Amino acid sequence: MPKTANKSAHKATSAVNIPEQVAAHRAFFRSGQTRPLAFRLQSLHRLQESIRHRQRDILHALNKDFSKSSFEGYATEVGYVLEELSFTLKHLPEWVTPQTVPTPLVHQPATSVIYPEPYGVALILAPWNYPFQLVIAPLIGAIAAGNCALLKPSEFTPATTAILKEIVHQCFDPAHISVVEGAVPETQALLEERFDHIFFTGSTAVGRIVMEKAAKHLTPVVLELGGKSPCIVDRGVNLEMTARRIAWGKFVNAGQTCVAPDYVYVPQELKAELIAALCVQIQSFYGQNPKSSADYPRIISDSHFERLSRLMQSGRVVFGGNSDASCRYISPTLLDGVSWDDPVMQDEIFGPILPILGYDNLDEVFNEVASRPQPLALYFFSEDEGRQQRVLQELSFGGGCINDTLVHLANPHLPFGGVGPSGMGAYHGKYSFDTFSHHKSVMHRQMRLDLPVRYPPYGAVKQQVIRQIFK
Ligand code: NAD
Repeated sequence: MPKTANKSAHKATSAVNIPEQVAAHRAFFRSGQTRPLAFRLQSLHRLQESIRHRQRDILHALNKDFSKSSFEGYATEVGYVLEELSFTLKHLPEWVTPQTVPTPLVHQPATSVIYPEPYGVALILAPWNYPFQLVIAPLIGAIAAGNCALLKPSEFTPATTAILKEIVHQCFDPAHISVVEGAVPETQALLEERFDHIFFTGSTAVGRIVMEKAAKHLTPVVLELGGKSPCIVDRGVNLEMTARRIAWGKFVNAGQTCVAPDYVYVPQELKAELIAALCVQIQSFYGQNPKSSADYPRIISDSHFERLSRLMQSGRVVFGGNSDASCRYISPTLLDGVSWDDPVMQDEIFGPILPILGYDNLDEVFNEVASRPQPLALYFFSEDEGRQQRVLQELSFGGGCINDTLVHLANPHLPFGGVGPSGMGAYHGKYSFDTFSHHKSVMHRQMRLDLPVRYPPYGAVKQQVIRQIFK
């Protein structure tokens, strides 16, 4: 059993005691306890031990919330954050070390140093689709950077939230890290408070609300949002492997992944072949009847089930199309004959429905994608280096892969985040530490020498000197 940090009881949070809770965090931060490296490392170690110890409970909760398989639960949530914790614990001593940078000759003698410092009290707002990972991964960054944090998990995953609360209560002083449960009213009450940093993961629509609220206090925000992430298939690729990687990226978590391929563009003459290859791969993953597969999750809520059922009416179903409202099951579904005017192409799908669009030449695809809001991810399957370079140079997107899907977000050396309407700011690995740190720049001067050139009266000679120095 991991040691508990503090045995003081947590009060049930209501909108009424939110200001009190924020004040407790602020006092804890001001006490300076979160700043020493040793405190941060101990906090992260406690979290690591607790997650290891409770991993079965976490996986069980994820399964209870939306039938997530234990493999996916481990790979995308528990194992994912354990990896992030190990990486952070290993590198934190180096990240917290102030960095000395060069000083231009004109300012000598001097030493210039960047000091990372914690912002203070961070608010972390999370969605339901990876309900454990998307609370804990930003929390790791917040703790590593020396902040206090208040966590608001999604209201749609109560079993996972219950475990999260237990872990947080067991590992941390409630004035250091705390959890507020609730939905829109509680989030709105939280957003009335002044935080020193807000880290929001969720929809673009709610991201706008968060940013508007943050503006009142000029609080820095990171917005990890969504969007329609294209997957473009070039001529000349191995279609079997392409189909396997697309089907995996799309149907993991039943398509409820912010970076899931939203739609596929494929050369017209290869469309039938790609669809056939996708059908083969989907069946090899989930069998003839995905409803009975232990590896295929359910849709999170009735409203999302109804929304996705309506989207299945766009175009023509060429695979799947089955559903069961009683258990919110929607089978992996492929749509053909879809146009940009159809409902399924208006917003992020966020479910197991994959429209396949044909194209004649890549220019038309690039023009189409470039004219739409910048997506969170983009995937390009191609063996042609020239065309790979075109994608990288001509299209703006949060991040992505050449010849695969999703895996870019599992590399802690790569910053993860969106651009434009898919978000701002980034995290993972060192980027999480940087995201939750203010980088304080200080020039250390000495008192021995004081060149008079910068002081008035300036006169003609000083004007000449300054022009020689700054040119
Ligand atoms: P959401 O925006 O509805 O909810 C996110 C959080 O905001 C929740 O905690 C919720 O309680 C709160 N919230 C909801 N409505 C609110 C309101 N009106 N005012 C204040 N707070 C409110 O998102 P969701 O449905 O939970 O998640 C799905 C979305 O999240 C998708 O768009 C997906 O792409 C995106 N997402 C992005 C990432 C990423 O890393 N970029 C990861 C996962 C999900």
